[in-house]
Amino acid sequence: MSLYRDEAVVVRTYRLGEADRIVVLYTKGRGKVRAVAKGVRKTTSRFGARLEPTTHVALQLYEGRTLDTITQAETLDHFRAIREDLDRIGRASSVLEAVDQITEEREPNEPLYSMLVGALRALCADDHLLIAPAFFWKLLALEGLSPVVDSCVVCGSEQDLCAFSLEDGGVVCSEHRRGVPVPAESIVLLQLILGGRLGVALAQPVTPATVEVEHLATRALEYHLERRLRSIGVLDRG
Ligand SMILES: [Zn+2]
Repeated sequence: MSLYRDEAVVVRTYRLGEADRIVVLYTKGRGKVRAVAKGVRKTTSRFGARLEPTTHVALQLYEGRTLDTITQAETLDHFRAIREDLDRIGRASSVLEAVDQITEEREPNEPLYSMLVGALRALCADDHLLIAPAFFWKLLALEGLSPVVDSCVVCGSEQDLCAFSLEDGGVVCSEHRRGVPVPAESIVLLQLILGGRLGVALAQPVTPATVEVEHLATRALEYHLERRLRSIGVLDRG
């Protein structure tokens, strides 16, 4: 067995036997990894509260055939402002759940890791409605599904963009209207988020257009996940 060190965000944990936990990690070097934390549920555990979801940790692990074993854990960031606020816990949970659902085990993706740490830091600094949806949109882009938001996905026109077609993966003009109607202000926010100007989008006041971007992000992510599950036959039951 080989020993290795990595940084990770704790995605979720579940019980294993009397005193142990399985910890799902998103690591910098190896992507999603499932590892055992032995004795973590005992009050005398040397891991303490270091292996709770959202925590950013530096770890030492033994590589196992299916599960690795955590031998050391040091906290890099508790993200305390998230842990102490139910709204932020909810937003952080949706970000972690999206990562868990969209990634396969042991497929390294450092840009995704950086984006995840960045989203948690942003959420820690500012409880903004757009942080989780912006993460979803960028996650889809990272999956190679860059949503087209600058021009109509059918004809390329930049005028009268008024809806988002989940099927076509982009916005459409009034002539090719299909999918979910989206106000022009929301499309501008989408352009800022996907154009690398999230800071500008976050600086704007929250309006119904912001809420629309959030709803649409959730729908786009769900649409993608469902289609992928279908493609590997998980949803086909006769
Ligand atoms: Zn068009």
